[in-house]
Amino acid sequence: MKKIKDIFKFKKQSAGLVCDVNPPSAYGSDIITVKNLTKQFMGIKAIDDLTVNFPQAKTIGLIGANGSGKTTLVNILTGMLFPDSGEIIVRDKKRTHIKSNELRKYRIARTFQDGRLIEQMSVIDNLLLPVAENNLIESLKEVSTKDYQDRLEKVLEITSLTEHKNKNAEELSYGLRKLLEIGRVLMQDADIYFFDEPFSGLFPEIVEQVCEIICGLQSQGKTIVIIEHNMSLIKRLCNYTIVLNHGKLLAEGIPEEVLQNKDVRESYLGV
Ligand code: ATP
Repeated sequence: MKKIKDIFKFKKQSAGLVCDVNPPSAYGSDIITVKNLTKQFMGIKAIDDLTVNFPQAKTIGLIGANGSGKTTLVNILTGMLFPDSGEIIVRDKKRTHIKSNELRKYRIARTFQDGRLIEQMSVIDNLLLPVAENNLIESLKEVSTKDYQDRLEKVLEITSLTEHKNKNAEELSYGLRKLLEIGRVLMQDADIYFFDEPFSGLFPEIVEQVCEIICGLQSQGKTIVIIEHNMSLIKRLCNYTIVLNHGKLLAEGIPEEVLQNKDVRESYLGV
């Protein structure tokens, strides 16, 4: 099997794999900004007048206590939910909401906390699903290109799914299912990748594999947003952190500083 490092460039340090903090693409501007965003569920403000920037080409840890609004924010930014009010600016274009069928246009891809695999479909067909959202003729054209076939082969390889490619999703172990979910977003040539708790419940060796995949994306200059509760993974992988508390911004900045912030320590880390 080809090594992941041969496919995606990354560097290793003695304390474990860490991402390259200086990825190659444009740096310094914001790829997404939300302004005064609000979303309520039956009177509960899941997102409360939130204004925050997502810097381009950074790996951003989106953290906060349970119920602080992380998934709601990602759902709004990936068109799964419409906000009640506020503005979303994606690459300088202002809008009040994003529609889920516009994600390809914005070059946004995401995973789901609960996985959204089609159980009775094969691994390959699950990987092809994002393309199938195109119209039929466009899908067939795209799938038959050499670039697409090369990408499919590469994604099967780095997710360790090559030997399982004809199995139905329901036949896979939990770890392979998580890798298939990740593989599905890798099939999309996006600029912004949202990973909602990609490490939850994984054995350490698969955690390492997912870290390598994320570092590979970072080395290509992608913007990555990771919802994660494990702070050592946040410190290893991320070069920016956004902390939510009751749907509001509590802190943002580089992880080492943010995790030392008094408010973050008191209200999230409980120390
Ligand atoms: P966790 O870390 O537990 O996944 P989170 O930070 O992602 O939490 P959200 O799932 O965004 O938080 O939830 C924010 C608030 O909104 C919580 O009070 C939650 O109960 C509420 N909420 C989220 N989705 C819904 C929904 N569909 N209907 C009702 N309330 C909801």
